[in-house]
Amino acid sequence: MGATFEGLPISEGIAFGPVRLVQWKVPEVPHEVVPDARAEEEVERFLAARDWAKERLREVQEGTKARLGSMEARIFEPQLLMLEDAEVVDATIRYIRENRLSAPRAFEWRMLELHARWVRTSNPMVLDRLSDLEDLLVRVLHRLLGLSEPGDMLGDGEPAIIVSHNLTPSLTVQMNPEQILGLATDLGTRTSHWAILARSLEIPAVGGLVDLSARLKDGQQMILDGRLGRIVLEPDASDRTTYEERKVRIRKWEEELSEVVRLDSVTLDGQPVALRANIDLPGEAVRGKAHGAEGVGLFRTEFLVVGRNSMPGEEEQYEAYRDVVEVFPDRAVFIRTFDLGGDKFPMFLHMPAEENPFLGWRAIRVCLDELDLFRPQLRAILRATAHGDVRILLPLVNDVEEILRVRELLGEEEDSLRRDGIPFSSGYKLGCLIETPAAALDAVELARHCDFFSIGTNDLVQYTLAVDRTNARLANLYNPFHPAVVRQLHQVSRVSRAAGIEVSVCGEMAGDPLGAFLLLGLDITALSVAWPSIPEIKKVIRSFRIEDARTAARKTLAAPSSAEVIQCLADGIGSSVELSDFSGRWSLSRS
Ligand code: PEP
Ligand code: MG
Repeated sequence: MGATFEGLPISEGIAFGPVRLVQWKVPEVPHEVVPDARAEEEVERFLAARDWAKERLREVQEGTKARLGSMEARIFEPQLLMLEDAEVVDATIRYIRENRLSAPRAFEWRMLELHARWVRTSNPMVLDRLSDLEDLLVRVLHRLLGLSEPGDMLGDGEPAIIVSHNLTPSLTVQMNPEQILGLATDLGTRTSHWAILARSLEIPAVGGLVDLSARLKDGQQMILDGRLGRIVLEPDASDRTTYEERKVRIRKWEEELSEVVRLDSVTLDGQPVALRANIDLPGEAVRGKAHGAEGVGLFRTEFLVVGRNSMPGEEEQYEAYRDVVEVFPDRAVFIRTFDLGGDKFPMFLHMPAEENPFLGWRAIRVCLDELDLFRPQLRAILRATAHGDVRILLPLVNDVEEILRVRELLGEEEDSLRRDGIPFSSGYKLGCLIETPAAALDAVELARHCDFFSIGTNDLVQYTLAVDRTNARLANLYNPFHPAVVRQLHQVSRVSRAAGIEVSVCGEMAGDPLGAFLLLGLDITALSVAWPSIPEIKKVIRSFRIEDARTAARKTLAAPSSAEVIQCLADGIGSSVELSDFSGRWSLSRS
C-alpha cells in the first residue's frame, strides 16, 4: 500500500499520475552595488521590467476573463495596483539612487520589507495577500535577472500532478486541465485565490499538506482525491483498483444525481424542503440553479473585498447582487453582509493584528464600525430588492442592538434612495445568522426583531465547542453532532416556530446526509448547501420519511455523547442512504 497523506479538500476529482514539483521560489539575487553613473540606467531597467510585468498581468487577466469570467479576472487587480503603488515603485527607485543597489536587489529589498510589515501587522492568514506579493516579486525578478517566465515551469511535457509549497493565481490560471491532472500544495485553503480558480477550471486539488512538497521527488506516482483531501504516494495495484472503482462509483452516482435535479425536494412521506444554494461568486448562481437549487440561501459577499486594494463601489456591488437575484426572480436570495475578520482581511481596512481573530473584530462588528464600507453595501442590496425576493442576512449577531442599528441604517438608505428616485422594494426581509451560543440562547429576543433566522453551524460549532474551525490539528474535536450543538439547534427551531419566522441552516452540516436527517427531524425544513452538493442531498431527502427523522431527532436530544447522537441518526436513517463514501468529513470521521 502507498503512503497516505491527509490534507484539505479544495477541488473535487480523482487524479492519477506522476509528480511534477514546481518551486515557486524567489530566485537568488546577487548583492550588487552599482557605480553612481549606472544608477539611472538601473532605474530605467526597473521601470521597464515593471511596465513589462503590468503588460503580462493584463494579458493574464484578459485571458482569465475570456476563459473564466470577469469576477475571476479581478483576482489580478491587487498585483496591478501594487505595480502602480508609490510604496513599491518610488521606494525601489529611492533604494537604487540612495543605496546604489542594482534594480533586482532594490526591488527585492523593498518587497521583502513590505512582506515583513504585512506579516507583522496582520494575522498570518493574510497569506493570500502575501502570495500576491510573492507572485509579483517572482515575476519581476525573473525578468530583471533574465530568467525564463515563471509560467514556463508548468512545461508542456507529460500530463502530471503539480506539487508545490504554495500556488499563485497567475500560475494556476495558466494551467491547461489536459496537462495538469491535479494540484497538491503544502499551504492553501478553500478560500485561497488559486483554489477558487482550480475549482473553476475543474482541476482536482488538495491543500494544507504541511511539508509534503519537501518530501517528494519528481516522477513519483501519486493518486490525488480532491473530494476527500487525500494523497496516496507510490500507490500499489490494490490502491489503484480502489480509487479507479471509487472514480467509477462517483461517476455513476453523479449520473444518478443528474436525474434527481428536476425532481422536487420532498421526503418519502411528502414533507417539502426548501433546498437552496450557498455561493461564493455571482457566477455560481447559474450553476446552483442547474444543480436544482430553489434559490440562494447564502451568498457570501467577501469576494468583493478580500484581495482588493480599495473598497468596492456601490454600482459594482449592485450589479453583482442583481445578477444573482435575476437568476432566481421568484425565489429567495439571502445576501449576507460582509463577514470580514476571522480569516478574511481586506487590505484597505488595515485590520490590526489580533490575538484571537475569531473572537475579535469580525463580521457585523466591523460593518457597524466602518460605515463607509457598510452603507454602500446596504444601498446596493436595497437596489437589488427591485429585482426579486431579497433577504438581508447579518453575520455573527449576538445582540438585538446590532439588528436595531442595521434597521436604522437601512431606513436612512431607503430615504436616500427615494430622494434620488432610485427604485427598490420595501418588501425585503432582514434576519440574522445564529452563529454563537449567545445568539442561540437569546433567540427569543432576536426573533422579535428578525424576519428569519439562518443557523451558521460552521461557526456555531466552533464557538460552542471552543474549537478553531481552521485548526487541522483539532479537526476530530470539531463535531457538529455534539449534544450541546443539537440542543441549540432544537432550541432555535422551537423559538422560530413559536415566533412564526423561517429558520434555515446554511452551515456545512446541512450538506451532510446525517446532518440533513437531524435538521429535518428538528423541524428545520429549509437547508442551504454548497451548490455542487445539492443533487446529492436532494437524493438523500427523497429517500427517508420525516416521521423517522423526527423519531431519531427526539432520541438524539436524550443522547449523552456525540457518538450516541450519530448512532441514533445512523440507525434512524436506514440502510438505503449511503453514508461513508459520499457524506464528507463528518461521516468519514465516524467510520
Ligand atoms: C457558518 O458559519 O456556518 C456559515 C455558513 O458561514 P461561514 O462558513 O461563511 O462562516
Ligand atoms: Mg459563519
